Amino acid sequence: MQTEDIVVVGGGQAGGEAVAALRTAGFEGGITLVGEEPQLPYSRPPLSKDFLLGEVGTEVLLLRPPHFYEKHLVRTLLGRTVTKLDRDRRTLTLDDGDSLRYNTLILATGGTARRLRDPVAEAAPNIHYIRTIADIKRLRPGLVPGARLAVIGGGYVGLEIAAVGRKLGLDVTVVEAAPRLLARAAGPEISAFVHRVHTEEGVDIRLGTTVTGFVPGDDGRVTAAVLDDGTKVDADVVVVGIGLVPRDRLAADAGIEVADGIVVDEFCRTSDEAVYAIGDCTRHPCAEHGGTRRLESVQNASEQARVAAAAITQNRRAYTSVPWFWSDQYDLKLRSVGIAAGCDRTVVRGSLDEGRSAAVFYLKAGQVRAAEVVSSPRDFGAAKKLVANRAEIAPERLADVSTPLKDLLTSR
Ligand SMILES: Cc1cc2nc3c(=O)[nH]c(=O)nc-3n(C[C@H](O)[C@H](O)[C@H](O)COP(=O)(O)OP(=O)(O)OC[C@H]3O[C@@H](n4cnc5c(N)ncnc54)[C@H](O)[C@@H]3O)c2cc1C
Repeated sequence: MQTEDIVVVGGGQAGGEAVAALRTAGFEGGITLVGEEPQLPYSRPPLSKDFLLGEVGTEVLLLRPPHFYEKHLVRTLLGRTVTKLDRDRRTLTLDDGDSLRYNTLILATGGTARRLRDPVAEAAPNIHYIRTIADIKRLRPGLVPGARLAVIGGGYVGLEIAAVGRKLGLDVTVVEAAPRLLARAAGPEISAFVHRVHTEEGVDIRLGTTVTGFVPGDDGRVTAAVLDDGTKVDADVVVVGIGLVPRDRLAADAGIEVADGIVVDEFCRTSDEAVYAIGDCTRHPCAEHGGTRRLESVQNASEQARVAAAAITQNRRAYTSVPWFWSDQYDLKLRSVGIAAGCDRTVVRGSLDEGRSAAVFYLKAGQVRAAEVVSSPRDFGAAKKLVANRAEIAPERLADVSTPLKDLLTSR
């Protein structure tokens, strides 16, 4: 059995960034990356945007070209799943029966799309979940002009799919259980803004209602989603975007602490000091507001990868960076930074009732702690700095669109 200095389980954003960060940090030992998907580490955000639209190919998604892994002597075992972790023997078992010994292990197992608990839906070929390139390749042929698309879940991924659906000429309905869109991810002001834009684009939005079942059709397909108010949404294609379940089972079965995600400290170490965990699969300390949190973003996956690499190479630094996220829908560039929960004041900049650009700031004890910015990359750059600096800006100045946001960085 081969012993490797570092084994990374999971070849997604976090795993891919971790191997690169280890080499950048000067780590010269052996590295093996085991990934269940057949592709080298790739970027998922385009899956619900340009890639779904067919505007970019698979090669554009790769985080790094194939020769990167050869040049940096990173062994990749793709299309292989780690099925067991034995911490006493520091050994991993793979689905083909092979074993691999490690000195240090990095778990970067991400998550899976949360599924509907419905046997009809499980078997239906026209009900889709979105997490991988393979998922998109299955979905894309069904997105033909005039087809009826039902999107279950009004979060970022669901709304991006809805926007692509409209762009491709489909009739789109979004069904959301919460009383507003983006309920978990954005404040009510941005929810209302996004609702307005999707309605203007022709999306039929049903809020505060859940899907209770499906109407079966031919060949196992469904023809409509049945809602709890008794109405039906006719559909040729259904996409379900109702969140993510962290893949923490491997860790939990091995006795590592998990709590809706693998619990890590600010250095991405798990309860076993030879095992680190990074990305969507983790729950980590929240530097902004205390407690712990689980994040699902490229920024979090990439930053945790760098933090773990720094700790492993004896260059420890804590994960304290402010989280940020983006989403593209139609011509809208939605950007958010910081954590709005726990803030005590909301300031709106620009008009949410018209146009396609605005910003919302969240303050705590007079300090700017979070922001959501639509369609102004320059303003988002300034907002990130205001949040990182916890700037104290009078609310009326933040709201005043006649003063460029960047000017607030220097004058208080
Ligand atoms: C459609 C979509 C759109 C998104 N858009 C945005 C966006 O606009 N902005 C943004 O910031 N974030 C976005 N995200 C979120 C972002 O892509 C994720 O936060 C990020 O991919 C997390 O990286 P990760 O490496 O932790 O997990 P993943 O990317 O999920 O990678 C985990 C990998 O580990 C593999 N794996 C799991 N268990 C095992 C095992 N036992 N053995 C071997 N391999 C295993 C999985 O197959 C997977 O390939 C989007 C996500 C999706 C799905």
